[in-house]
Amino acid sequence: MSNCLFCKIRDGQIPSKIVYRDDVCLAFEDINPQAPTHVLFIPLKHIATVNDITMEDRETVGHLYTAAAKLAKERGHAEKGYRLVMNCNAEAGQTVFHIHLHLVAGRPMGWPPG
Ligand code: AMP
Ligand code: ZN
Repeated sequence: MSNCLFCKIRDGQIPSKIVYRDDVCLAFEDINPQAPTHVLFIPLKHIATVNDITMEDRETVGHLYTAAAKLAKERGHAEKGYRLVMNCNAEAGQTVFHIHLHLVAGRPMGWPPG
């Protein structure tokens, strides 16, 4: 997707603070962090929203969770806890239409979200 912000970050056309990369996903620091740890995990494959995930993407999406849990553990958040969030479309607050799993950690969080 030529006009996708996160595809451009994936391709190095827009700078980002990359914290992890493998052959399936990329993780980088959120530009507007909402907690001491706020990292976005994206699939290298462009998928616009959760609505567009297909059965063939199952391993890719699962991969985002295992990569995020690994980083949470490395940063010392595993015991206290952390939040993994994927917003879908406008009412949930999705603003970038390339799916991304937010890893948010390092402070207490309320529920339900606003
Ligand atoms: P969402 O609202 O769930 O679509 O999340 C989009 C996230 O992308 C927000 O938390 C933004 O702060 C973040 N974001 C937007 N532009 C950039 C960027 N250039 N680099 C890193 N994170 C970004
Ligand atoms: Zn994209």
